[in-house]
Formats: sequence, C-alpha cells, structure tokens
Amino acid sequence: MKGSEKKTRPKTNDSLPSPFSRRPSGGFETFAEELRCLEQRNLLRDLPLTESCRGSKILINGQEFLNFSSNDYLGLSGHPRIMEAAVRAVNKYGFGSGGSRLLSGTHAPHRRLEERIAEFKKTEAALVFNTGYAANTGIIPAVAGKEAEIFSDELNHASIIDGVRLSGAGVNIYRHKDMNHLEDLLREKSKCRAAARRLIVTDTVFSMDGDIAPLEDIVMLSRRYDALLMIDDAHATGVIGKTGRGGLEHFGIRPEHVIQMGTLGKAAGCFGAFVAGGKDLIRLLINRARSFMYSTSLPPAVCEACIMAIDIIDSDSGDLRKRLWENRQRLYNGLSQLGFDTLESETPIIPVMAGDAENALEIGKHLYRNKIFAPAVRPPTVPEGRCRIRFSVTAAHSDDEIDGVADVMGRIRRGLKRGIA
Ligand SMILES: *Cc1c(COP(=O)(O)O)cnc(C)c1O
Repeated sequence: MKGSEKKTRPKTNDSLPSPFSRRPSGGFETFAEELRCLEQRNLLRDLPLTESCRGSKILINGQEFLNFSSNDYLGLSGHPRIMEAAVRAVNKYGFGSGGSRLLSGTHAPHRRLEERIAEFKKTEAALVFNTGYAANTGIIPAVAGKEAEIFSDELNHASIIDGVRLSGAGVNIYRHKDMNHLEDLLREKSKCRAAARRLIVTDTVFSMDGDIAPLEDIVMLSRRYDALLMIDDAHATGVIGKTGRGGLEHFGIRPEHVIQMGTLGKAAGCFGAFVAGGKDLIRLLINRARSFMYSTSLPPAVCEACIMAIDIIDSDSGDLRKRLWENRQRLYNGLSQLGFDTLESETPIIPVMAGDAENALEIGKHLYRNKIFAPAVRPPTVPEGRCRIRFSVTAAHSDDEIDGVADVMGRIRRGLKRGIA
C-alpha cells in the first residue's frame, strides 16, 4: 500500500503530507459549518461519559460494557495501596501544589518521585512533567533547537509531532521502523550539516499499531551518526522488559546516552510523566523546557500515588504482567485466526484494520451493540484509509471475556463478507 510512494516521499516539514503538515482550517465561515463537514466525512467525535470503570468492565451512558480501550494494563488505577497513598497525601499536603516547580510548587513528594523514577530507570536523575503531552512538547524543543535536525518515525505519537513542530528544527521523517531510510537521512544530514545537533526520537511501543521500535538498531545508528536518542516509553513502562522497566530493559540496552521519557497514566494507573537520564540533561530541562517551567506542578498526592505505583510495579507486578501477556496472546490468536489484519502488533495493543472511517465506525457499532467497548480510530489519529478498531488488553480480562470478543468479531467478519457492513 505504501510501496509506490516510497521513493518520492518528501523529507522536510514544508512539503510533508499528514501528519506533519498543518491542515488549513478550510475557510469555514462558522464553527457549525466546520462541524457539519467533519460529520459528513465520518470524522466527528463525541465524548463518551464513563460512569465507572472497574477491572474489565466500564459503565458508559448507563450501560455496562467490556472495556477493551483501557491503558490501565495492570489494573493499578484502582489498587488499594495507591488509593491510600493518595488519600494520606491529601490529608498531609492538601490538594493543589500552589505553584510551578521553579516557584513554590516543588514539594517533598515531587523530589521523592524523581528519585524513585531515577532508581527504577537506573539513571542519574529524572524529572517529572504534568503529562506525557507536556513532556514531549517540552523536552524536544529544549534539547533540539532551530539549528538541530530531528529524525522522527512517521508513526510517532501526536505529542512528539507537536514537540518537533515547536522546536523549529529541521524535520526528517523516516518510514515506520525503516532503518535504511533512517540511515539515509542521517548520512545526508551529517554530510551537509556536520556541526548541527541531531536527535532521533521514537515511540518504543507504537500507540496505534502496537509494534515495538527496533531500539538496538536505532541505538547503533545514533552512535554511528553522533545523534542524541530519545524514546517514548508511554506504552512500555510497566508493560515490556522482564521487570517492567520499559524499552531499554526489553532489549538489554544500557541507559547511558538515552533520553527516556515515560508516562504514569497508563500501566502505572496514575497521572503524569517523566524523563529519566543524565544529571546535565535534567538540569538543562529545568531551565529550558517551557511546559515544565510555566505550568503549575502536579498535586503532591498525585506524586505519592505514582511513587506507590512504581513500588508496586518494581516489586509486585510479575504475576500481573504474566497475566497481561497471556491475555494479549489469547486475543491476538483469536483475531488473527479469524483472518483480520492486525498489522505487526506484538504488544497488548492490537489493531484490527478496517479501511475507511465508515467501515471502522460500522464495526465499532457492532461491538457496541454486543457490549464491547473498543472504539474506531480515525484520522487525524491514524492516516487516511488506515482506520481501525484498536483493542487494548489488560491483566483484568478473563479468558471468557477475551473469547467472547473473538466470537463477536467472527460474526462481524462473516457479516462483512455478506456485505452488511
Ligand atoms: C499517551 C501517550 C502520550 C501522552 O501521555 P499523557 O500523559 O496521556 O499526556 C505520549 N506518548 C505516547 C506514545 C502515548 O501513548
């Protein structure tokens, strides 16, 4: 599908198609007109109201569904020890942090959380950001300014894309996991701009495809071409690596010279994000990362909850992770035996390709009617024509629940063949 355009794909920000090009607003007179246009193209979205979310079940708009859309991979968001840690901290510190980190917003829990993350990631230091979105949009411009060249996988998360845009650096987008393409771009840019700082940035686990970046090869290229490397462990922290430490542990790569960003709202079941790395990197970010400097810091109770979550992941999550991966394999087998295209998923994120938005919505509706919550993913989250249902499996699902999904998907598939959808 992508084959024919391979050679001609433009390489700079100015001429790139989605996702790096800024879509024009289209010259709509009114918001209503713009909304109607989105609706006609099957791209309008609404916010489902989650009334409760416990284990594998989710209550939306008064109806109970099996939840296959959660990032709470280990079920920690409702863990009693994490909830207690948060409540204890609220009683001790109150709720709000009262300021940004550089003013009065650095409390003991922020310090302790950063020390805990550095220990967990085996790095010299760490820094907490309010969200993964803020981390990526803060870190990337701070380490790669206008003079730099950034090398970014075409399927990187939107927050990386926005961080790259904000940096003003030269943008070099390489085809998904295509190491030859990455090396071509690195070689070209080292020739003509040898002195410029280079940064390679990649998701570790790709959030919509569920595959894993070839980090060993990327590390090798970053050394060969003297480039910084930043990885986004949002879906990797707590999920991959023998003890849940993320991408580097998964591949057995040492943490020196890698900028490791991760989030605390997914497998950690809390909220917030971090970057782990060398002392100088962290001190520079404190002085340069605008999303860090100019934003009220996390409530101390959130930090205490995160510390407890990391303690649990570190000491006590082996069985949960084992269950998560067994569940992942069960659903993956079920869906691939039915003949669905699941791309190259190798993690608990399992896409089922649907083509255009209309088709994806149709499958989503069938699932919804069968009380399964796994929404259709459409542009701009994925490229045009690459719409999908995105299943994410957690440790909380039972075998029966997973087999139930495969069952329903089998019926949908037979329905699709008869041309119903
Ligand atoms: C979810 C996600 C983020 C954003 O993290 P938040 O804490 O939710 O803002 C960043 N990168 C990737 C790859 C993600 O999946």
